[in-house]
Amino acid sequence: SRNGFCNANSTFYSKRNPLPLPANTSLDITTFISSQPHRGTTAFIDAATGHRISFSDLWRAVNRVADCLHHDVGIRRGDVVLILSPNSISIPVVCLAVMSLGAVVTTSNPLNTAGEISRQISDSNPKLAFTTPELAPKVLAGIPIVLLERVGATRGVRVVGVLSEMMKKEPSGERVRDRVSQDDTAMLLYSSGTTGRSKGVNSSHGNLIAHVARYIAEPTTETNEIFLCTVPMFHTFGLLNFVIASVALGSTVVILRKFELEEMMAAVEKYRATVLILVPPVLVAMINGSDLIKRKFDLSSLRTVRCGGAPLSKEVTEGFLEKYPTVDIFQGYALTESNGAGASIDSVEESRRFGAVGLLSSGVEARIVDRNTGRVMGVNQTGELWLKGPSIAKGYYGNEEATKATFDSEGWLKTGDLCYIDDDGFVFIVDRLKELIKYKGYQVPPAELEALLLNHPDILDAAVIPFPDKEVGQCPMAYVARKPESDLSEKQVIDFISKQVAPYKKIRKVAFIDSIPKTASGKTLRKDLINMATSKL
Ligand code: AMP
Repeated sequence: SRNGFCNANSTFYSKRNPLPLPANTSLDITTFISSQPHRGTTAFIDAATGHRISFSDLWRAVNRVADCLHHDVGIRRGDVVLILSPNSISIPVVCLAVMSLGAVVTTSNPLNTAGEISRQISDSNPKLAFTTPELAPKVLAGIPIVLLERVGATRGVRVVGVLSEMMKKEPSGERVRDRVSQDDTAMLLYSSGTTGRSKGVNSSHGNLIAHVARYIAEPTTETNEIFLCTVPMFHTFGLLNFVIASVALGSTVVILRKFELEEMMAAVEKYRATVLILVPPVLVAMINGSDLIKRKFDLSSLRTVRCGGAPLSKEVTEGFLEKYPTVDIFQGYALTESNGAGASIDSVEESRRFGAVGLLSSGVEARIVDRNTGRVMGVNQTGELWLKGPSIAKGYYGNEEATKATFDSEGWLKTGDLCYIDDDGFVFIVDRLKELIKYKGYQVPPAELEALLLNHPDILDAAVIPFPDKEVGQCPMAYVARKPESDLSEKQVIDFISKQVAPYKKIRKVAFIDSIPKTASGKTLRKDLINMATSKL
């Protein structure tokens, strides 16, 4: 070890402060968050309406909703509750209420098709769903629904309540609730991990408590910070930042239903936002639109952009700093499976390390492992990044095989990212080894698209790979082996898939090939296909 952060076994330790974890093992994340001392007053603001909710109103609402869920709906410890909604103030209320009962929050992208949502529902088996009237028809008939808003007709669905009424109902008095342990599952967010279809990541109350503890260990956020949330709250990035950490720290979060460039900039001006949390494609949009943005909006309140979820190129970083010289960009790296832990840049000084995703988070241990030999590598050597620590999820819900492939018996998470760690402990991501495609930061699992392609009568075999794109990061590209005599066209392939998937999963490029290259054991040689696709660039 040169600096004390890498030991003789080539395990890297975080250089950040140690994690202050609570000793009480029967603690739920909601109670932990509510017990944090902070001086914040406004918890959330709805950017569109200006509606504000204070911390005291938020906790009153959380308690009332939890009470209704327990007494009126019969939700108990371990029951799964689905939230299907665009970003809204309701999401933190529902999440914190559900988790306070020891019940489990699961989410789905509202852009997903009814078919995609129903597959997720049959996997996680929710007892109840919170959703909007427009999205309610996408929820499998039969699952009781609590509406997040009361407007609109909702035929063919089983409505058992309306959130605004639950928030008004006085608690019943008796409060015998199930005892929750830190090991209990709190959230099931869906991720495809290193291979295959989307799976529910088993995140425990302890995993989420460790996430909050990281901010307590390294107070990078002032209570008077005003965040703007445009990243989706159904994803780990939005949920952990804006439902878990921000509430614990007492910061104000301005919520936008979804990302739209000018609306986002108007909200920065109107609410004097100080921090934006974004994925790289939004930075690209901000660079491309900078003349208009700077002419139309006063962005003088904005000091920091935190960027993560996908690779941020040097070109984009430099382009952004040139257009917005008074704003700092801090990168971060984490996975759904790591519950916010990974690496981050936390200061201007650290941000000068161009290309680094940051120093290992508090409480995190890392290894760099050669995928072919299994050898553990040292400083400045490249291999797969493995992570260990109190934030790392326990595994995939109901999927022993995928759990075993990704989480080893000592608790190491194999990230599927090719990385190295330099002399000073900075983590650099070199490439993605896993199959996952990230389109605008959204997860697109190739296995899902390949399964759909194989259903086409003219297709013998198919493989889906990421194709690099400056604006969206990566887009899904299909290599297709047609049956003899077939004259299937690129457009027919694209249309066949787009009818069946959410818009962000669409195949946007097709190449025909005689046969898909495979290893002796039948695994698709994705790297060969990626090289073939990109060699012409
Ligand atoms: P998700 O579970 O959807 O958050 O996806 C996690 C994956 O996104 C990681 O394993 C990486 O492949 C990628 N990722 C996240 N943050 C970064 C980053 N800052 N730079 C490069 N890749 C990233």
